[in-house]
Amino acid sequence: MTKPAPKVGMISLGCPKALVDSERILTKLRSEGYEMSGQYNDADVVIVNTCGFLDSAKEESLNAIGTAMKENGRVIVTGCMGKNPEEITSRFPNVLAVTGAHQYEQVVGAVHDAVPPQHDPFTDLVPPEGLKLTPRHYAYLKISEGCNNRCTFCIIPSLRGDLVSRPIHHVIAEAENLAKAGVKELLVISQDTSAYGIDLKYQEFGWKGKRWATKFQDLAEALGELGIWVRMHYVYPYPHVDKVIPLMNDRKILPYIDIPFQHAHPEVLKMMKRPAHQEKTAARIVSWRAMCPDLTIRSSFIVGHPGETEEHFQFMLDWLEEVQLDRVGAFKYEPVKGAVANEIELQVPEEVKQERFERFMAVQQKISAAKLQQKIGKTISVIIDEIGEDGGADARSEGDAPEIDGKVYLRNAGHLKQGDIVKAVIEDADDYDLYAVPA
Ligand code: SF4
Repeated sequence: MTKPAPKVGMISLGCPKALVDSERILTKLRSEGYEMSGQYNDADVVIVNTCGFLDSAKEESLNAIGTAMKENGRVIVTGCMGKNPEEITSRFPNVLAVTGAHQYEQVVGAVHDAVPPQHDPFTDLVPPEGLKLTPRHYAYLKISEGCNNRCTFCIIPSLRGDLVSRPIHHVIAEAENLAKAGVKELLVISQDTSAYGIDLKYQEFGWKGKRWATKFQDLAEALGELGIWVRMHYVYPYPHVDKVIPLMNDRKILPYIDIPFQHAHPEVLKMMKRPAHQEKTAARIVSWRAMCPDLTIRSSFIVGHPGETEEHFQFMLDWLEEVQLDRVGAFKYEPVKGAVANEIELQVPEEVKQERFERFMAVQQKISAAKLQQKIGKTISVIIDEIGEDGGADARSEGDAPEIDGKVYLRNAGHLKQGDIVKAVIEDADDYDLYAVPA
């Protein structure tokens, strides 16, 4: 016999915008199989969407929360008053969760925590891990939306707003579902992964009997417990990143860090308004490599940013030679409409951008080729992406993210299948790729 569907009650106060928020929340919950209830004593949980426009509206909202607490006791508060959670929790310490206006995902997540949705494999169109466009063995795990930085070449904050992090237990639950569904590699993405949780003031949540802060380090530790490959993208070199490097050395997460440096010269970084830019980055890289000798550092750079002189550019080439990054991509500056950098007086002509781009790639190609040569003869772990018809396979090492980095071409791999993680001995290398045989 199937269990009855969980029921949600909703008290919606305030303006039409709040009403639309309530509709969106209910639509999402309904699509997940929740039923709506108009009775306090019939609902498994009650959502109160508050209004904080005037003191009288606040009082009305607090009264509504009070009634819902008295009549039902399992209450989630959202809406404008969620901006100052203390105003609510000081009066009603037992509310289950408080989220702000437009934080649909958090409200829905709080409902999931209070009464988990039911998954029925016979009628549900969507599996618990969601629909994925990636191959079955790897998946992207988005931990936040938006960005608090204001890099002058970028319009993402104006398109997507400030940082909104997903609470850590929601991220881990999704990661766990993906692992259960057969995913072998998670690619953690956001606009600024090391800033994860700042907007939630690193709020703690429970998962598997432990408290976890919504914070980069805790996220790395928790994902490291899943026993699959975890790859960190878009990390900025804030000081706390140092604490995550030992987890990489212990293979809790992959020894791979994707840091979009974008430039090396302090003056250009200042013009770009880059976060965490500092002159000691080269020293940090040396210390990371001492902590984790197999660390692969991937980065991307912009050449021809407005204001970049030949001297700035040469400085970046010298820096590249000094720090010997493993994987590097470069882009010629593009004046995206609305980017503040377009107003900088010195714009770099297209032909100069092209010439710098070619010089940049030539330097990095030499570095990459030399680094890969040093790997010949070593045994490494690889993940199988695709089995070929000739008995070979396309694979990737711990140091290669899909789509953006190199590949490991395996021979004699016909007995393997997509998603297998195996040891391979490297036989040869070219500028960006490795050639190997299963060990
Ligand atoms: S480039 Fe800068 S502003 Fe744009 S998303 Fe990245 S960190 Fe945020």
